[in-house]
Amino acid sequence: MPTSGARPHVVLLPSGGMGHLVPFGRLAVALSGGRGCDVSVAAVLPTVSSAEARHLEALFAAASTSVRRIDFRLAPFDASEFPGADPFFLRFEAMRRSAPLLGPLLAAAGASALVTDIALASVVLPVARERGVPCYVLFTASAAMLAFCAYFPAHLDASAAAGRGGVVGDVDVPGVYRVPKSSVPQALHDPKHLFTQQFVANGRGLVDADGILVNTFDAFEPEAITALREGSVASGFPPVFAVGPLLPVRFPPQEPAEDPAGYMQWLDAQPARSVVYVSFGSRKAISPDQLRELAAGLEASGHRFLWVVKSTVVDRDEAAELGDLLGDDGFLGRVQGRALVTKGWVEQEEILQHGSVGLFVSHCGWNSLTEAAASGVPVLAWPRFGDQRINAAVVARSRLGAWEERWSWDGEEGLVTGKEVAEKIKAVMADETVAKKAATVGEAAAAATAKGGTSYWSLAEFVGRCRDAG
Ligand code: UDP
Ligand code: UDP
Repeated sequence: MPTSGARPHVVLLPSGGMGHLVPFGRLAVALSGGRGCDVSVAAVLPTVSSAEARHLEALFAAASTSVRRIDFRLAPFDASEFPGADPFFLRFEAMRRSAPLLGPLLAAAGASALVTDIALASVVLPVARERGVPCYVLFTASAAMLAFCAYFPAHLDASAAAGRGGVVGDVDVPGVYRVPKSSVPQALHDPKHLFTQQFVANGRGLVDADGILVNTFDAFEPEAITALREGSVASGFPPVFAVGPLLPVRFPPQEPAEDPAGYMQWLDAQPARSVVYVSFGSRKAISPDQLRELAAGLEASGHRFLWVVKSTVVDRDEAAELGDLLGDDGFLGRVQGRALVTKGWVEQEEILQHGSVGLFVSHCGWNSLTEAAASGVPVLAWPRFGDQRINAAVVARSRLGAWEERWSWDGEEGLVTGKEVAEKIKAVMADETVAKKAATVGEAAAAATAKGGTSYWSLAEFVGRCRDAG
């Protein structure tokens, strides 16, 4: 039963990592704000990273959103079963095993609908079904990745039927496009990998969802969205609601805004569109050798730059000093004045919306790309891991920016040299067309989310269904 009159009560269930939590927070605010829903977020505490802890705290504290918290307490989980596994994948697995505990939480909350993260979908859908609660998936990556995820199990089945069990080749997603073997997320080449097992189960489970929300918009990924909606990717595929780009949320700061590096002030002092912003997301550290080449490339590019250096997988881990990370050869001294380098957390959305930023060198995490699209800032795609090559192809296809496909990704032989980085940055910064095309993507993003736009209506349709179900 909904909690108050005709207001549907939507319960959101993010998994682990900022890449998943950020879009869930944005959806929570969109639903509880203008869309007339009561919203609860099921949270697992403690979070894996401190960035997630701060984000949740701000979300629940913001009086303007009145998003409620439901504590999802996990069953005991022995991580030693998976030695060396990525801490975020371990959190996914711990949550997956605790899925049956959600049943009573949903009943107690009187949920009209549940929106689960893709990483938990296959185990959460049956629990919601048993309780008679409609269950949707928020897919936090691209529609291209959603199509890949929905089709990948069929690719594996075909490989097994042809006697090549488990071997992954180029993946020809019907109605969309071919994902070359070299763009398939690294882990998926190993059928025994924890991520592969979760990924395949979730891909198979998608058809049982009542609908899939995707943080993208029709004009950004027309082929993938159409193919999914027409059932070309998988027959009987549920409705796809392209609701993005989910808009950044600004919580009123609880304390004076933290900016020890002073990057916003520094940006204020730079000329329009002159700064190259460099960030590889919140999930992975770059190898020390590659970091040094990147440093050399940024220096040789001659451009101003703001670089967020990430040296550990989980931010609670001890990080080395910047000087040590970058080789301590005087780099920081040499670029002083035209660069700001920090290893702290930054407010990326604010940076991308700042008029002095002219280019975003990005690992192509999907949230970063949706933020770049919303801001109309061109992207130089440098995918490193996971779904990022599939996302980089979206950058190239949509003309949001450029992708140097030859550049290696994480764990591959061969570094991208400083010289290559410098040349590419210089070329993209000098190309007026790149900036113009990115601005056009920005306009299309704004049109999609404005009243009457495609994403506006998709979200309205989703809310209508939740209301009817309540
Ligand atoms: N982010 C940020 N400040 C940082 C690093 C990341 O605000 O210093 C945000 C970024 O804006 C994005 C999210 O964290 O919303 C990262 O998600 P994304 O999908 O881009 O990449 P991931 O970190 O999952 O690889
Ligand atoms: N993903 C998926 N199925 C899963 C788990 C993840 O499709 O079972 C997607 C997820 O949305 C993400 C991508 O695969 O975009 C890579 O997942 P991961 O958690 O490694 O990336 P993150 O978003 O944490 O950087």
